[in-house]
Amino acid sequence: MKKGSDVDVVDIARNIPIGFVPTPTKGYRTHNIISKATLEPGTPQAPATRLPLQYSLGARVLMWNFNSTVDRMKLRKTYLPSYVFAGPKDARIAIKGMPIVCPNVMGDLIETPGTDAFDSVHTFAVVRQTLTMYQRLLSNAVPWQWNSGVNSEPLEVYPHAGLAMNACYSRSERALKFFYYEKFGEVSERIYTCRSTDIIAHETAHAILDGIKPMWLAANTLPQTSALHECFADLTAIFVSLLQMDQIDAIITQTKANLHDKTYLSDLAEESGLALGRSNGLRNADNDLTLSQAGTDVLALSQAFTGAVYDILADMFDFERKPAEKDDAAVLFDVCRYLQSVVARAFFHAPNEGATFVHVVNNMLRIVNDDEMPAQYRNFIRHRFVVREVVNSPLPMNVDAGPGIELRPHIEDERDAVQDRSGCCGTMQHIDYNGGYDAMEKEIHELKQSAGDMKRNGHDR
Ligand SMILES: [Zn+2]
Repeated sequence: MKKGSDVDVVDIARNIPIGFVPTPTKGYRTHNIISKATLEPGTPQAPATRLPLQYSLGARVLMWNFNSTVDRMKLRKTYLPSYVFAGPKDARIAIKGMPIVCPNVMGDLIETPGTDAFDSVHTFAVVRQTLTMYQRLLSNAVPWQWNSGVNSEPLEVYPHAGLAMNACYSRSERALKFFYYEKFGEVSERIYTCRSTDIIAHETAHAILDGIKPMWLAANTLPQTSALHECFADLTAIFVSLLQMDQIDAIITQTKANLHDKTYLSDLAEESGLALGRSNGLRNADNDLTLSQAGTDVLALSQAFTGAVYDILADMFDFERKPAEKDDAAVLFDVCRYLQSVVARAFFHAPNEGATFVHVVNNMLRIVNDDEMPAQYRNFIRHRFVVREVVNSPLPMNVDAGPGIELRPHIEDERDAVQDRSGCCGTMQHIDYNGGYDAMEKEIHELKQSAGDMKRNGHDR
């Protein structure tokens, strides 16, 4: 019976409202209690074999939803499967510079949106989910760059690092820093970069890759090496948002299962992109950039690579779809997880120094071959990277890329290429990696020399 309805629906034959659930009479309840207390128990049954369940130490957290495809700025309650201490912090991640947030009596962190405590919990949750995503892939702990057999220091995370349109990972400070800024319109509005899941996942990815490939961040690397770092961060932001089935379902609905209809990407994270110094949003998978157009612009190079990976995702999904047998969302979820695994392994197995796009592409080809995936997977990878001018194909495109195929680069970095990181995020322009400290040391050294010379020559009188 629906509460508040004007007219109840009535079973005419029995003259009672439909949905009416009778309660036992007092006499029946008394009879039932006496029966249970006095009757002999029956023959003991053999106890059912029951495995003990592990006591769950994880925490439920309240956080912002992932992105605008599912009602931007709506809330999501999610479960982190490991113990979260007051802070919040755990063995790998520690929130800093904020009032301490304590888990409630059930070990959960449920705070009020818009408060410092909520920002701390949201930021912690996204960093934790991003790290966990890669640890599951590698079936191992992923160390931070400074971790060793005797150093297990966590990554410090500052949700409110100060006033700036910026977010970055700093190796020297062992920290992620998320700044806030004023957005001026009719009414000025403060934008917190820590409220964007995209930005948090992107910067966490820089920290994760720096733990595995510490030589890739230096500004004197090849433009393509730097572009791989930025690309890894963008792809991570995309894959983190696709961890959740409701996100996947929303994308299927919005695109009618045609991922080449990229409407869902184009309206994403515009503000987030601005905070990272980009005019066209954080995720730029919706592009047709080629390497000859990108030149030595690291952001453009990374977007060309990200665009190719996105197109491969669309190709694999289209190939695997069987709507009559399996739900599209379930297929896309599986394809996303598999491609993410291929991309991560291809990056992690690229050279520690001087890595270029062709290394990662050939790793992807080898991995799908080793995984015994259909030949079409190799064709998709070859096709998309040929279109982007990353590789040349020795075979016509209508001939299958056979097992063991190795592609040659099409456009390579010039030996003395000077890279342009001006369009990249705060990490790629951070003084830790751009040679700023070296320049300062050089200037101090020159100052000392000059001052010493002047004193020796009597110019100090
Ligand atoms: Zn970045």
